[in-house]
Amino acid sequence: MQCLRIVSFWCLYALLVAGLIAECKIPGAECGIIPYSEPSTPRSQGGGTDYWLVGHNLQVEIDPQAHSLKATDIISLEVGEEETVFLSLNTTLQIHSVKIGPQKVGGNGGLIISPVRPVSGEREGIEVSIPPSLRGKKIFLVISYSGSLYEPLDPFHEPPATIAPEFVYLSPNAHWYPDLPNSMGVFRITATVPRGYEVITHGNLLERKEESTSEAISFLWEADFPAENCYLIAAPYKVTHQKHGEIDLYTYFFPEEQGLAESYLEASKKYLDMYQKLLGPYPFSRFAVVENLFPTGYGMPSYTLIGRQVLKMPFIVHISLGHEIAHNWWGNCVIPHPEHGNWCEGLTSYLADYYYNELIGPGPAVDYRKEILRSYANYITEENDFALEGFTGSANRTERAIRSILYGKAAMVFHMLRNMTGDEHFFQALKNLYLDKKWQLTTWEDFRLAFEKQSGQALDWFFKQWIYQKGAPALELGDLELKEAEGAFQVRFQLRQTVPPYRLRIPVILTHKEGTQPFVVEMDSQTAEFLLKSPSGPVSLAIDPDKDLFRKLHPMELPPTIDKALGESAPDGLLIVKPSGGKAAPGGSQLLEGYEMAADMLIPHGEVKLDKDVTEADLKRSLFILGGPENNLLLKKFPALLPNDLLLAEDRLTFKGKEYEAGASILTSCRNLFAKDKTVCIFVSQEPKAIQATARKLIHYGKYSYVVFLDSTSVDKGTSPEEANPLVHHF
Ligand SMILES: [Zn+2]
Repeated sequence: MQCLRIVSFWCLYALLVAGLIAECKIPGAECGIIPYSEPSTPRSQGGGTDYWLVGHNLQVEIDPQAHSLKATDIISLEVGEEETVFLSLNTTLQIHSVKIGPQKVGGNGGLIISPVRPVSGEREGIEVSIPPSLRGKKIFLVISYSGSLYEPLDPFHEPPATIAPEFVYLSPNAHWYPDLPNSMGVFRITATVPRGYEVITHGNLLERKEESTSEAISFLWEADFPAENCYLIAAPYKVTHQKHGEIDLYTYFFPEEQGLAESYLEASKKYLDMYQKLLGPYPFSRFAVVENLFPTGYGMPSYTLIGRQVLKMPFIVHISLGHEIAHNWWGNCVIPHPEHGNWCEGLTSYLADYYYNELIGPGPAVDYRKEILRSYANYITEENDFALEGFTGSANRTERAIRSILYGKAAMVFHMLRNMTGDEHFFQALKNLYLDKKWQLTTWEDFRLAFEKQSGQALDWFFKQWIYQKGAPALELGDLELKEAEGAFQVRFQLRQTVPPYRLRIPVILTHKEGTQPFVVEMDSQTAEFLLKSPSGPVSLAIDPDKDLFRKLHPMELPPTIDKALGESAPDGLLIVKPSGGKAAPGGSQLLEGYEMAADMLIPHGEVKLDKDVTEADLKRSLFILGGPENNLLLKKFPALLPNDLLLAEDRLTFKGKEYEAGASILTSCRNLFAKDKTVCIFVSQEPKAIQATARKLIHYGKYSYVVFLDSTSVDKGTSPEEANPLVHHF
């Protein structure tokens, strides 16, 4: 379950584009125990024994200089009849004692030392023996341990944990506290650090205690809502606080980034206001933007953890921050059931990334939907497709195929649901669901019930075809006839769809001399015929021109883009053509070395061949050509492969009428003149030194048809317009 560790697409995307990451991805009295209170209701019992609610009362002392921690966790849980309980815990940590006893009102008296067996290998942790008298009961486990967790700081690599003077980062992947795997838990954490540090985790900061006689400072955090796991971060942050209504807003930034605090706080207010109006009250009492020294974009309950490099990027505050804030409703409060498909990335993308485009205007919203459909067409095959219901969250979310379904298709499902039920019912259903399912594991089925109740429509067919089965329909415009009788016009047309047929509501636009006439036609069979009446002579008929349907685009609806080439699947997949030399260009052999490295980076996307080994049959494949005609023999032999708007001279590049002299690299794509449904990408560079850094970024500009880089920074990019759309008929 990913409720705490929500890895956001947009933030990851930002990191990918920036080339910052190679790949991406939520008590008692005896022995000084602070009383632990259970949440008022057992809210996250997700069915079966795998998702017990566990309470942690953790006291941890952190010594950044020594890279070490010393901790005692009092775990409150209900055990079954098993003889032992497994708890995950980092095996490098040294366990000092494990005590066990029954939970009693007002204390945890009667604790006894429990035998423990260390476990390593696939799972690392400890197996605690449960005495027969405690089986099937609510118990306390008190575990004291200490040790060192350290990795040198590397801004491009997120370690599971490190305790360093500059930064303390403890992620659940490091198993820095004992935990029942797959459990949901409430957390009460007392963290003691040297003065000058601030500690943050999810929940509420109840106490910040600086002892006048001590060099230490302690922070008492409490999260009385269930969460899958816990991150704890400590650093010499400068904390900025503002009150916004009932919500406390914070930034935890290093002094160098302090100038960004105001814009993040102001943007947070805007997003919180927007989502409270749209979805209902914000579920926490505080929200913080926290700077990470590692490249992350995580949305945690009540805070977001954003890597230093991306924090400074202007679009983060305008798009990504909103996405993470929306996750506080979807993912952190209403929690996707780990066994029934992750709906929360699609819903969050729809209500954030997509919604912001819609607020700008219809054009950007249509463009966003086009990108979703293109990504699906370019990257999804029969083999890698999957039903949304079946996604368990175990796969790498950064893989384009997974993203195009988990984020893209799911967002389109919500879009179609909205078009079918109307704005009022759509947003009211979401509000109702949020109220009903707070702090609970929630499934697609819960969405069906909420939307059916609100709209009064039976939606089982809708969820069955879009959620429980994989795939997408493809549409084709069949026979078409225009008739005129006594000044009235009739358009009769046939639509065909692929097998299995979907039940579809298809927007159709009839354009005539007086303007446009929108229709919605419905079909649930493989072919259907429709008759539209037009008051005057129609100019064109367009089927789903604004991409309101989730469907497989026709190849001619797909402009040549970098994704289209990179998404080619075997056996005749992408051919990467590296240069063998040709005439020495400026930079000579250095350029060739650069192209060689670029070819190596592209290996996961296709087959690599030297220009002189390319066969006639290869020409009909999608090609990724590295180097211009000066270096690459294939372009020398077939100069017509070069797009007309790219002119290459020895000392300069001219692209789309603009001249670039030193340090420019261009990646452009066009249709393959030898096979119109295939794509040719050409990457040329003038700058041997920047070629490697640029090449590393190429695959992250997939939605574009061209990108211009100056010294590995993109300075211009764009997508070619759609060509002849076979779903549009001009009369
Ligand atoms: Zn997300």
